[in-house]
Amino acid sequence: MKTLIAANWKMHGQLAWTEKPAQFRALFPANANANSNDRVDILICPPAHMLQIMVAACAGLDISIGAQNCHDQTSGAYTGEMSAQMVAETGANHVILGHSERRAMFGDRDEVVAAKTSATLKAGLVPIVCVGENRGEREAGQAEEVVGAQLAASIPQHADGVSLVIAYEPVWAIGSGLVPTLEDIAIMHDHIRGCLITRFGAPVADNIQILYGGSLKPGNAKEILALKDVGGGLIGGAGLEMDSLAAIAMAAP
Ligand code: PEP
Repeated sequence: MKTLIAANWKMHGQLAWTEKPAQFRALFPANANANSNDRVDILICPPAHMLQIMVAACAGLDISIGAQNCHDQTSGAYTGEMSAQMVAETGANHVILGHSERRAMFGDRDEVVAAKTSATLKAGLVPIVCVGENRGEREAGQAEEVVGAQLAASIPQHADGVSLVIAYEPVWAIGSGLVPTLEDIAIMHDHIRGCLITRFGAPVADNIQILYGGSLKPGNAKEILALKDVGGGLIGGAGLEMDSLAAIAMAAP
């Protein structure tokens, strides 16, 4: 399985940033050498207003574009929202769903995430379903239980697991500079793999990429990305600058 390196730009970005994909490729050439994207898929998730122009900016660069959210309905009186079909029309092919910022600030509970995931699958896009415990849950020894429950309720019943990416992002590690121990990341990714095997069966579940996210940086990427069951990274802060994103991609096993 290739490693997926996904940058979540959050509410950062302006039209001049359409230069970034070419800058990235100058630092991390496609199909050029052992450090090429033979082993690594690159995904950039810009703010919604940039989706279409970023798709155009990535033409010929082998970089995919994803949205950071979508609505669960196809169309209707939902001011300020964008449906999965609309995301698909831009040429984007992934949607991040259930990011902890959406869960905390915009009411994206598990059942909302499941409905959005369902809409994303129907639109032919790949959902990246985010799960992760908060600090209190980790300290209370409930991290695995919390993540297991989020997974069960955030993936819609009809999903077959064939087109699905999971991102494990401990809430306390996002944007904080704090990172779980390698052992804790390995334990959680093993737990998530187990949950997916129970749900979808081994052959399908083994092919689901489980990304790690939370203060992933060039300095810690090599050891984290080398862990069994870590299939890539979801990157916030370090994904805004192409030199750090390229350094993380370079660190992929
Ligand atoms: C994120 O927001 O998904 C994230 C992982 O952010 P950061 O890399 O900045 O911790």
